[in-house]
Amino acid sequence: MELTDLIRKAFPNLSSEAVEQLLKLSHSHTYPPGTILCQEGAYEDTFYLIQEGTVEILKQFDVAGTERERLLRTLGKGEFFGEMAIIVNGPRVATVRTLTATTVLEIDRQALMDILAANPTLALDIVRETIDRLRVNDRLQLEEMRAAYEALQRLDRAKLDFIEVAAHELRTPITIIRGYRDVLAMHPLVQNDPDLPRIVNGMSEGTERMLEIVNSMLDVSKIDSQTLQVAFVPVLPRMIFSETLHVFEKALQERNITIRQHHQKTPTVPFINGDPVLLSKVFYQLLSNAIKYSPDNSVIDIISREVMDVDLGHAFEIIIADRGIGIEPDQIPYVFEKFYQGGNNVSLHSSSKTAFRGGGPGLGLAISKGIIDAHGGKIILESPGRDEQKMLGTTCRVLLPIGKPEEDLSEMNNLNVQK
Ligand code: ATP
Ligand code: MG
Repeated sequence: MELTDLIRKAFPNLSSEAVEQLLKLSHSHTYPPGTILCQEGAYEDTFYLIQEGTVEILKQFDVAGTERERLLRTLGKGEFFGEMAIIVNGPRVATVRTLTATTVLEIDRQALMDILAANPTLALDIVRETIDRLRVNDRLQLEEMRAAYEALQRLDRAKLDFIEVAAHELRTPITIIRGYRDVLAMHPLVQNDPDLPRIVNGMSEGTERMLEIVNSMLDVSKIDSQTLQVAFVPVLPRMIFSETLHVFEKALQERNITIRQHHQKTPTVPFINGDPVLLSKVFYQLLSNAIKYSPDNSVIDIISREVMDVDLGHAFEIIIADRGIGIEPDQIPYVFEKFYQGGNNVSLHSSSKTAFRGGGPGLGLAISKGIIDAHGGKIILESPGRDEQKMLGTTCRVLLPIGKPEEDLSEMNNLNVQK
């Protein structure tokens, strides 16, 4: 095919003079297979029209930190490339590599701009083709994203199944160990020995922690599979606080952490509508975090009050404010994800729920958020940043909607939650 015919075929609306001009300002080159004519990201000034041969257009993309190459399309005789970077005056948006020995007509930026300025129809042809290509790219990218999303969903499902099966399987042996531990603890040989009670006690604490983690795994799988059952009843918040605080009494004493409570009298609605077992779990998790990430001799404030919230309207707010190591604000959106552990050292894992920076599987906040969401509430973490010297602290706010008090519960309204 004549060169003029080739140009006419590529740009049918171009005048004869413009075709001549294009021919005058361009030169042909032949490249062996495997030559990179355009390099993604590079600033290059050449526009190409393929006379003979085939090229592939490739784009780099990042998959979990690994750079991969994706084939966008192949181009052959009569097709052009290299126009996008010239039109937008930017770097190459893709890499072009010859697949076969390829002869191309090359036109540099200035010459192309001159021809475009004098031939709006050519400019339109190129823009139209460019938009078509972008559209195809978009479609490809959307399809890839959908496939990746589906793969992630499948993986997440598999992870959840594994968590659930593992947790169920571990519960039985743990129950057996707990039974034998009780027998052992009561045995005269142990009771009359100076060291054995301490050893059995250590075993016992380890077993209880194991059970707690297994239960957390079961909770999180229920939340993720949306099978968490919430049994709504009127709950007196002070019951939740006092029971949970009782659980942490020993740890608070050992670490000399003071809890200050400020419970506002709530004359309108003294109870919240919720599941007391689940709400206790939330309070337990939040308080355990406050203790775990606070240094010894620290203070934790617990506040409860009625508020008007922009989203929930009339709401009951529980605030747990510690003066511990804090969280980096940019990490806050992630702490609610299951197995998230922030800057914790994994080697400290699961030593205890209350030791300073004791570590854990990273399920507490995921469970708390799942439970509060199921109550139609909100859970918010705030911290100026993580600093193990300055101890900037973390504040956790839980907001629960206060439904209209039901008639038959009206006599409870005379109570208040002051501790
Ligand atoms: P688990 O609760 O399952 O035993 P965990 O405490 O590590 O383990 P989460 O309660 O979900 O897990 O918390 C996730 C992460 O958020 C923690 O590892 C920690 O990095 C950060 N974090 C949570 N609460 C606080 C807090 N009060 N102060 C500082 N960091 C916190
Ligand atoms: Mg926790």
